[in-house]
Amino acid sequence: MARVNNWQLGREMSYWYPESRPQKQFAAVFDTNKCIACQTCTLACKTTWTSGKGQEYMLWNNVETKPYGFYPLAWDLNLLDMLDGGNWNESGERPVYEGSTIFESAPAGERVLGWRPEDQDYSYPNVGEDDCAGQIDGGASIAGSHDMAWFYYLARICNHCTYPACLASCPRGSIYKRPEDGIVLVDQGRCRGYQECVKGCPYKKVFYNAMTGTSEKCIACFPKMESGIQPQCFVNCIGKIRMAGYLNTPENARADNPLDYLVHIKKVALPLFPQFGLEPNVYYIPPVHVPTSFTRQMFGPGVEKAIETYRNAVNDTDLAGLLGLFGSSERVMTKWRRIGETITGLDDDGNVLVNVPLKEPVHIRPAYDTLHQITRVNCP
Ligand code: SF4
Ligand code: SF4
Repeated sequence: MARVNNWQLGREMSYWYPESRPQKQFAAVFDTNKCIACQTCTLACKTTWTSGKGQEYMLWNNVETKPYGFYPLAWDLNLLDMLDGGNWNESGERPVYEGSTIFESAPAGERVLGWRPEDQDYSYPNVGEDDCAGQIDGGASIAGSHDMAWFYYLARICNHCTYPACLASCPRGSIYKRPEDGIVLVDQGRCRGYQECVKGCPYKKVFYNAMTGTSEKCIACFPKMESGIQPQCFVNCIGKIRMAGYLNTPENARADNPLDYLVHIKKVALPLFPQFGLEPNVYYIPPVHVPTSFTRQMFGPGVEKAIETYRNAVNDTDLAGLLGLFGSSERVMTKWRRIGETITGLDDDGNVLVNVPLKEPVHIRPAYDTLHQITRVNCP
């Protein structure tokens, strides 16, 4: 095995191939606080890419209610049970993961610590939907803190990992990471359907198609990304929770790159299960109302700080402005700036793609409409 640098772990780790970072890395930030579980993203993907035979259970994008929702069933719990998860040493400048990754814990003769779901594990994509943790007495309503009862929505796609376990597990070398943008794809011509990738991916984001005998996965809508347009699940997102773009490594972070700003500079968006060791490239702004004892095992040790930063966005004009750019354009915004009260998204060449105001103007109609001679009720 090679030794590679995984900045999310704060240390080097063992991986099956030498470190080879793409020219630029496809990445995304999802704001969990804004997701309403409408599943429009799921349908946008399904109708675009997976509406064929053999793809009936295939959801490249899904949205599950945490803590009780999973697709496939118990995808995260099963691996957390198997993994010798360790602590994060937080004594230095950057937290260091002291446990084992799924590559370092692989059983003898295998490349990755993994498990393969049964067919029935894919049968209930909405299991646990809107079930909350905790108990509420009949007739009671939530007052004050949410600690007693909570849930949140976790939208998931392939993470187009820097160190993909699907790629490492494939005995045919059928899975590759594009050097130009880091998008991870399955070569349908080479794949023989061994399903080692399904077993190896800890996020269970590769799916086996029994009709074609090959594995299939999210392609980050690469034909759209190549044209500078965000993927289907991003541009159709009702909650405007998503932003797609390209992420640099921490040492090359640029303040004018929206994703670098959120992930590296503000550290308000965190990877999903960084301890697995894949350096996943979808980042989440953690839910502010969920006990951090839960979100910390899911998003790593930066959760408390990320929530504090997010809550303080109301006093942070730059962060608040950048969050306002989410869902404001279908184009990929690789640069951004704030001048006064105007936030601008730009492309690589500096072309302006969109301007949004820091604060939306508010118009309150007069209660009595003289034109139509009617009285309306304005909700404050
Ligand atoms: S999330 Fe899974 S399928 Fe996607 S690149 Fe990572 S290991 Fe591969
Ligand atoms: S479309 Fe957006 S808001 Fe709706 S479920 Fe998907 S991620 Fe959440």
